[in-house]
Amino acid sequence: MSADAHPIPSHAGPRATRAGNYFVSNYPPFSFWSEEQIPAVAEALRSRPAREDTPLGLYHHIPFCRKRCHFCYFRVYTDKSARDIQDYLDCTVEELVRLARMPLIEGRKPHFVYFGGGTPSYLSANQLGELADRMKGILSWDSAAEVAFECEPGTLGPGKVEAIKRIGVTRLSLGIENFDDAVLELNGRAHHSAEIYRAYERARHEGFEQINIDLIAGMLGETEANWQRNIERTLALRPDSVTIYQMEIPYNTTIYKEMRASGKLEAPVADWQTKRRWVKEAFAALEAGGYHIGSGYTAVLNPGRTRFIYRDELWRGADLLGVGVASFSHAAGVHYQNLTEIAPYIAAVRRGDQPLQRAFRTTPEERMIREFILQMKLGRVDSGYFLAKFGADVLGRFGGILRDLGAEGLLSIEGGDIVLSRDGLLCVDNLLHDFFLPQHKTDKLV
Ligand code: SF4
Repeated sequence: MSADAHPIPSHAGPRATRAGNYFVSNYPPFSFWSEEQIPAVAEALRSRPAREDTPLGLYHHIPFCRKRCHFCYFRVYTDKSARDIQDYLDCTVEELVRLARMPLIEGRKPHFVYFGGGTPSYLSANQLGELADRMKGILSWDSAAEVAFECEPGTLGPGKVEAIKRIGVTRLSLGIENFDDAVLELNGRAHHSAEIYRAYERARHEGFEQINIDLIAGMLGETEANWQRNIERTLALRPDSVTIYQMEIPYNTTIYKEMRASGKLEAPVADWQTKRRWVKEAFAALEAGGYHIGSGYTAVLNPGRTRFIYRDELWRGADLLGVGVASFSHAAGVHYQNLTEIAPYIAAVRRGDQPLQRAFRTTPEERMIREFILQMKLGRVDSGYFLAKFGADVLGRFGGILRDLGAEGLLSIEGGDIVLSRDGLLCVDNLLHDFFLPQHKTDKLV
């Protein structure tokens, strides 16, 4: 099928892939968070939870990778020694000790835990075991409903998968991205396809509650035939869930730097219509294979058993305590991010300071919009939830925008629910800016 066979809705966004962020992960956008608002963080952490039932999540950031992927826009370190890594882990534990004593956190237990990066599986089995023991001693996650852990397949040697299981991980997420060695190499990935299969087998053998695999549609060198092979191989592995991102090229990636050096405006990857069609085809094949589409990015084999608690609770206003360099947090309505470089982060923790980079105190209206746009990514929004929680009639307030999107075939209203069509879901990130407050409508989203 050709993307040209169908008219492109105006909300589908530009056709060519140009540099910039397309994925909306929070609201208000990060460009509005500032150093001036940092004092709001201490105030929030000194307060008591406004509602007893607000869940607490814990995020731990590991900024180390074997190699830097050409599309990576995170701050990652590929040159740190075992001593450097231990110093870093000690600082994250120290940070957690201080945070756990704050009135907002004291006495609460994390309902979900997430190890992200970077590459959490880059840590050795011993480092992992010790880190988890120390963290649990500070903030026990015995009663957590989910402990998620991101892995790069090439780091899952013998003993590592067992160590990850031992610390209580329920969802192991494998960053496969593509099954083809030439594509993996072209994009600077550290792993090869043989490692994918070995890692997957080991993970299955350990009996994790959920194994997720990540894919990216539109990597450098991706072709129609290869994308179809990716879908077939995914179906053959039959993971509990599959997450598919559409390749974006943020400004701080190696790919963008090469574009700039050669004066190119368009990235050397598939255009947005092609990437969307690839995800659409993957979703259709996964549905035919028994999967259910749970968001603009995920397919789940057994929705009754397999959940994404981190995502769902965060998108419904949970508090999130992030530790580690560049980590993001949300505490009693205040967004904040830690210092984004490792040396200043370590220095701040050692001085006894909270290692903060920027913050943003949200208003109730901004929190309502934030939850609304994040829940749109699930493909179904219950307007009753917003009435009950915020006293907001979202169908009335956003009536004009919803009608426009409905006229383009991107969503419909069913009873009190806003339901995105498959086409709407596949370009959901392009639709969300329309719901922003006027002062937050900007191209500057990072
Ligand atoms: S593995 Fe992930 S975090 Fe590490 S360099 Fe690649 S994309 Fe970035």
